[in-house]
Amino acid sequence: MTAPARQKIHALVAHVGGGAGVDEIDIPAPTDGHVQLEMTHGGICGSDLHYFKEGRVGDFVIRYPLTLGHEVVGRVADDPSGQWAAGTPVAIHPAYACHQCPECLSGNPHVCRNATYLGSAASDPQTNGGFAQRLNVRLDQLRALPEGLDLSLAVLAEPLGVALHGINLAGDVAGKRCLVTGSGPIGALTVGALKARGAAEVVSTDLLDNPLRIARAMGADEVVKIGVDRLEPMSFDLAFEASGAPAGLSSAIAATRRLGTIVQVGMLPGPTITVAMAVINKAEHTIKGAFRFDQEIDEALTMLAATPSLGSVITHTFPLDDALEALAVAGDPAISGKVVLKLDA
Ligand SMILES: [Zn+2]
Ligand SMILES: [Zn+2]
Repeated sequence: MTAPARQKIHALVAHVGGGAGVDEIDIPAPTDGHVQLEMTHGGICGSDLHYFKEGRVGDFVIRYPLTLGHEVVGRVADDPSGQWAAGTPVAIHPAYACHQCPECLSGNPHVCRNATYLGSAASDPQTNGGFAQRLNVRLDQLRALPEGLDLSLAVLAEPLGVALHGINLAGDVAGKRCLVTGSGPIGALTVGALKARGAAEVVSTDLLDNPLRIARAMGADEVVKIGVDRLEPMSFDLAFEASGAPAGLSSAIAATRRLGTIVQVGMLPGPTITVAMAVINKAEHTIKGAFRFDQEIDEALTMLAATPSLGSVITHTFPLDDALEALAVAGDPAISGKVVLKLDA
């Protein structure tokens, strides 16, 4: 079916300086090389919450209204190229790299200096996201779903891609003793992915009971409540820091064994933080930063199809019209894990 030249749709739009609304926006028909999708599900991410509350994520400041949402899936509505049949369920790679900068040319498009990302003010112009009834994306951003994978689970492909990228940076995790600090959605998905990849033991930490409950449901062998239980020093082969808190990084470093690796998956607050890291000298730790993902979204879709228990991270689903309530719930880790917007409800 051919999309009209312009149509009015509803979208969750973040405003300059903070705040958001379910606003009416205009969407044009897809241009050459693009596809129009009818969106079905969108997962709310920490960065969406920052845009909503503060109008910015770190250095990325909203300069005019921005449609949020990068963890989004839907169905093909109009593909002028004729490659995708209308109604086909698809996941979306939210990044588009330049394929020309030194990072792209070295095979690392996820750190492309000119990348655009759905629902992000990092690029100029900003890139609108997919918390909307319809979205136009490039043909090469579409991913077919593996057999048997429902859109309601495929919505986890983006955050699971983030978790898998962190895991890939650590190398082979099979048989390893792993620590995950911070049991929010990314930490919980890291727990589930580590178990699926054959980690021997996964211990997950958090300050709150609700994320620890979710981490257990995702397969954590043990959970540690910060401030109550204690982590044994220098005892883990690998640590994945998913809290984005300097204290989380300090505890990950302290608990990692000699010659072990720590991967910083959570976004740290900038620009200057205090971390207890003197032990990295005598332990010869490797500390790696992790940013988004590249082909891991394909690994994520395969893993989701094979591991439906990863869906335990989803605690709430709201229709798009109730997006402001959904943002409030998503912002309270004491009650929620991953909160999903039903975009076609
Ligand atoms: Zn996200
Ligand atoms: Zn590039």
